[in-house]
Amino acid sequence: MKQTDAASTLATPLRFVKGVGPHRASQLERKGLRTIEDALLFVPLRHEDRTRLTPFRSLVPGQAATCSGVIVGVSPPPPGRSRVPFTVMLRDSSGYATASWFGWRYLARVLKRGQQLVLHGRVGRYKGAIVLQQPDYEVVENGEDERLHTGRLVPVYSLTEGLPQRALRSLMWRLVESHAADVEEVLPDSLRARRGLVGRAQAIRDAHFPETDATLAAASRRLAFDEGLLLQLGLAILRSRVARARGLALNPRGDLVARLRARLPWKLTGAQERVWEEIRRDMAAPHPMHRLLQGDVGSGKTIVAAQGVLTAIEAGYQAAVMAPTEILAEQHFMTFRQLLDPLGVRLTLLTSSLKPRERAARRAVLAAGEIECVVGTHALVQEGVDFRRLGLVVVDEQHRFGVEQRARLRGKGEHPDLLVMTATPIPRTLALTIYGDLDVSVLDELPPGRRPVVTVARSEGKRRAIYKFLREQVAGGRQIYVVYPLVEESEALDLKAATDMARHLADDVFPDLVVGLLHGRLGFEEKDAIMRRFKAGEIHVLVSTTVIEVGIDVPNASVMLIEHAERFGLSQLHQLRGRVGRGEWKSYCILLTSGHLTEEAQRRVDAMTSTNDGFRIAEVDLELRGPGEFFGTRQSGLPEFRAVDLLRDTSLLEEARREASAIIARDRELSDPAHRALRAELLARWRGKLALATAG
Ligand code: ADP
Ligand code: MG
Repeated sequence: MKQTDAASTLATPLRFVKGVGPHRASQLERKGLRTIEDALLFVPLRHEDRTRLTPFRSLVPGQAATCSGVIVGVSPPPPGRSRVPFTVMLRDSSGYATASWFGWRYLARVLKRGQQLVLHGRVGRYKGAIVLQQPDYEVVENGEDERLHTGRLVPVYSLTEGLPQRALRSLMWRLVESHAADVEEVLPDSLRARRGLVGRAQAIRDAHFPETDATLAAASRRLAFDEGLLLQLGLAILRSRVARARGLALNPRGDLVARLRARLPWKLTGAQERVWEEIRRDMAAPHPMHRLLQGDVGSGKTIVAAQGVLTAIEAGYQAAVMAPTEILAEQHFMTFRQLLDPLGVRLTLLTSSLKPRERAARRAVLAAGEIECVVGTHALVQEGVDFRRLGLVVVDEQHRFGVEQRARLRGKGEHPDLLVMTATPIPRTLALTIYGDLDVSVLDELPPGRRPVVTVARSEGKRRAIYKFLREQVAGGRQIYVVYPLVEESEALDLKAATDMARHLADDVFPDLVVGLLHGRLGFEEKDAIMRRFKAGEIHVLVSTTVIEVGIDVPNASVMLIEHAERFGLSQLHQLRGRVGRGEWKSYCILLTSGHLTEEAQRRVDAMTSTNDGFRIAEVDLELRGPGEFFGTRQSGLPEFRAVDLLRDTSLLEEARREASAIIARDRELSDPAHRALRAELLARWRGKLALATAG
């Protein structure tokens, strides 16, 4: 009884909390805070140690400091002088200091003489004087409860327009005081004791208003553990459902695979053999396969997947190969057709750009079982394309193919085997965390003879020298890619840029060479024709928008020139680079940039020029973009991460994973009364996605 009361209190909308009007409530809602519970779980960005306010006299340039003083003078920048900072002069009992902000003209309206401020920021020098540069500041209002805002570890929250730090902090204080105790413990006592975790209510209190650094650390650890555990429990449940489900045992003699291999001019690498064996065994077993295949660009994933496709077909089933975009689907189709056509496999391409009649015709032969392998976009699953006997689904690029879609696939009658491939590998522990419902195979070896691609960054001034270099490469018998970025909002403009460049190169720069142009607006047949000509060596320089990101395989190409390289994402750059260095020749990736790079763009370029290792690249990418964007948590269907730092908390996540497996091994669907609170929390966090999986 008491618990339900507590639960309903926590579910109270914030607008019913005393002192929160409709205006404030809507500001809070913009931060995703609707209920008291939302607010309690809204952990601060950081804490400031205001037990030790630094006297102005003791400020040291180069260090960060927290201090407090009264404004004694305000100097706004003169009109039109945006390069002059807005400064205020402050006084405390030890002396004077200056604080300055650039580009903060509106401060003139906010900061007034006589106000007391608390400031936190970096100390620097400006024209010889000591200055707090761009500090965070809070205006101390009369009548506020100062114990909250100074003399302690003070929480600093992420804000939204019009919501002052102090007001939010005061609200949080009241909520924590009156409601933290209502938060239910979700972990069994034994687990808490074993892992040395503080209670959940305590953790929430300390995450906001900790007494010491140590209590703060313990609180953060507890909340991160909960988040990790809830993630892992959900994944463990999905995994155990798959393991128990009845699936297809695809275990033919292997004639088609043998014929494919006999036609290859090279032998599979050790890693390819090992990974293929893992897949073959999964496919042969009478449970659905759910496997993630990770491998850097060029590690040879295609041939592994092709063997899976042939195995399904020889066992009498159909296979579907899916890519996140139409262009990628077309490219996969070309690749698979080349490998499978000679073996007599009947293949088709299904994309939404087909004429309705053609599309309907292809769907019909698929449903009739006359086609053995279909290549298309992820929409294949969503639109409920009918198969006669679907045995294997190969999905390229897992980021955009989330838990939910996988669940939907599981729901497709016969439980086909699933192989998810990714060329943006992530560290294994992280893969187990994020794709915990999949088994993981790693291609950790490149085919022999690959040489690292020499990667350099150049600015516009070097263009002539670059053209000269390209000419030498072509004279030596090589071929060149020139890539243009596509920015969605101005596709037409970008297309024009690429078109103009192709014409410029063809007419003015390389009039004696054959320059080709490839872009997304071309029809499939046209693209196919151009790619074939490039592959045959008839085109020397191929200008392209990013349509060649994945799947093009021309070993003779030795240079990848990327225009406006700063506009590309890191994994995209790495993919593009992976298009060269596939043959026996020394290969180059040239990143041409405007020269004025943002810090983030600079880090992407630096990462590219300093390593060829896709795992390392993925780590940097993850750091730069943060997990939300990197994994597309919303799209992928995973709960969001608030307390967990996926890069920092790997060992914690590993612990959570072990605990989750142990719990699910004993209590598959958390029906034990001891797990009631955990189950409720789990369902709330996964917002019905686990139930969706049950339905499938
Ligand atoms: P990925 O899809 O992993 O980026 P691909 O499957 O496109 O890589 O393979 C890259 C290139 O390496 C292709 O030209 C392929 O034919 C070739 N290749 C694959 N496996 C081997 C191998 N074991 N030995 C030599 N070349 C290989
Ligand atoms: Mg590939």
